[in-house]
Amino acid sequence: MPKVDVVIAGGGAVGSAAAYFLTEPRGFTGTVAVVEPDPTYRLAASTRSAASIRRQFSTPINIEMSAFGMEFLRACGGGLGDVNLKESTYLTLATPAGATALRRNVDIQRRCGVEVRQLDAAGLADCYPWINSSDLAMGADTPDGEGWFDGHGLLQGLRRAALKHGARYIRDRVEHVLMDGARRVAGVRLGCGDTLRCRWLVNATGTQSRALAASAGIDLPVFARKRCVFVFSCAQAPANCPLIVDPSSLWCRPEGSRFICGVVPADDPEVAVGDFDVNYQEFDELVWPALAHRVPAFEAVRLDSAWAGHYDYNVFDQNAFVGPCESVPNLILASGFSGHGLQHAPAVGRALAEFIRFAEYRTIDVASLSYTRYPRNQPLREHIVI
Ligand SMILES: Cc1cc2nc3c(=O)[nH]c(=O)nc-3n(C[C@H](O)[C@H](O)[C@H](O)COP(=O)(O)OP(=O)(O)OC[C@H]3O[C@@H](n4cnc5c(N)ncnc54)[C@H](O)[C@@H]3O)c2cc1C
Repeated sequence: MPKVDVVIAGGGAVGSAAAYFLTEPRGFTGTVAVVEPDPTYRLAASTRSAASIRRQFSTPINIEMSAFGMEFLRACGGGLGDVNLKESTYLTLATPAGATALRRNVDIQRRCGVEVRQLDAAGLADCYPWINSSDLAMGADTPDGEGWFDGHGLLQGLRRAALKHGARYIRDRVEHVLMDGARRVAGVRLGCGDTLRCRWLVNATGTQSRALAASAGIDLPVFARKRCVFVFSCAQAPANCPLIVDPSSLWCRPEGSRFICGVVPADDPEVAVGDFDVNYQEFDELVWPALAHRVPAFEAVRLDSAWAGHYDYNVFDQNAFVGPCESVPNLILASGFSGHGLQHAPAVGRALAEFIRFAEYRTIDVASLSYTRYPRNQPLREHIVI
C-alpha cells in the first residue's frame, strides 16, 4: 500500500488551506495528499459561498480566527492572487426584542478588542438615512476588519500554492477510513478501490464529513442545510451599503454593481447531497418583503439570478469541530462551520498544520473547537449564525 504522512479528504478552502500551511517552505517535511473528486468545485460550499467576513460573532475564537482571516486576505495579492477583497462593515440591526442579545454580543466583541459602534434608533437614522429604522431599537457596525471577497479565488489560490509547494491532489473520493484497531486510522480506501496508508487523516469533506467520520466510529452532528442566494439590481441603490443583517434573518450586501441576499428559511430540513434547486418562493415570500421593508429603495428591485449551496451545519452548537478526536487521535476534524467557514479557512488550515507539526497550537489556540465538547455535552454555541 502506498503511504503518505497526511491525507486530507476534501480539497475545498479548508482542506486546501491545511495543505497550503503544511507545505509552506521550511515547514512540515512530510508528504501531503489531498483527495478531492471535483477540481472545478462546482458544488462545493467554498464556491457557492457569499464569501463575507465579519468580526461580529458571539464566540471569541471565531472573532480571533476572523482577524487572522482578514490579515491573510489583505496579504493575498502578494502571493495567492487577487481575492478582490472589499473592506466594509456588517450592520447588525435589532428590534426592541433583540436589543439585549445584540448588546450582549457587542460586549463580547469589545472584550475581544473589536471596536464595535452601538447605534440607537436616532443614530441609525443619522448614519444610515436610507434605512427604515421605525421598528428598530439599535444597530452595530465596525470601523474595519469586515467585508467580502472572492471565495472561489481564495480556494484556487490556496490550491495552486499548495500544489506548487509539493502537495499532491488526487482526483478521487475517500470512501472509507481504514482503522488499525478502534483508536487509530491506518489509511483510507479511495473510490477507485486503491488504498492509501497515512499517519494523519484530516476530514475536510464539508457536508460529507458526517459519513466519513462514521466510518471511523465518530458521530459527527453535521448535516447539509440548503441556503439560497439571490442576486438583484436596484436603480436607486444606496451608496456604500454595508452587509445588512436584519432581525427578520435577511442579509444583504453589494456585489459589484448589484446585490446579493438571502434568509434563514423558516423550514430548514437536512437536504439530499444533490439538491441544489433554488427555492424562488423564498424570494417572493420572505426576501423581497424584508428588503422592501428595511430599505425602501429596495421596493423596486429586479431579480437577476440565484443559486443554492449547502452549509455543513453543526446542529449541536453551530460552531466548527477542529482538531484531533480524543478517541481516534490521528483523525483530525475540520467541519461543521455552519455558514462561517470560508473566512476561517486560513486560521483553521494554519492551526491544523501546527498541530500536525508540533502536536500543539502555536498561534491561535483552537482547542475550544475540539470535538470532545459534543460527547461531553458542553456546547460552545455561536449565537450569530447568518
Ligand atoms: C450559500 C452559502 C453562503 C455562505 N456564506 C459564507 C460567508 O459569507 N462567509 C463565510 O465565511 N462562509 C460562508 N459560507 C460557508 C462557507 O462557504 C463554508 O463553511 C466553507 O466554504 C467550507 O469549506 P470546506 O472546504 O470545509 O467545504 P467545501 O468547500 O464544501 O469543500 C469540501 C470538499 O470536499 C469534497 N468531498 C466531499 N466528500 C468527499 C470525500 N468523501 N472524499 C474526498 N473529498 C470529498 C467536496 O468535493 C468538496 O470540494 C457560506 C456557505 C454557503 C453554502
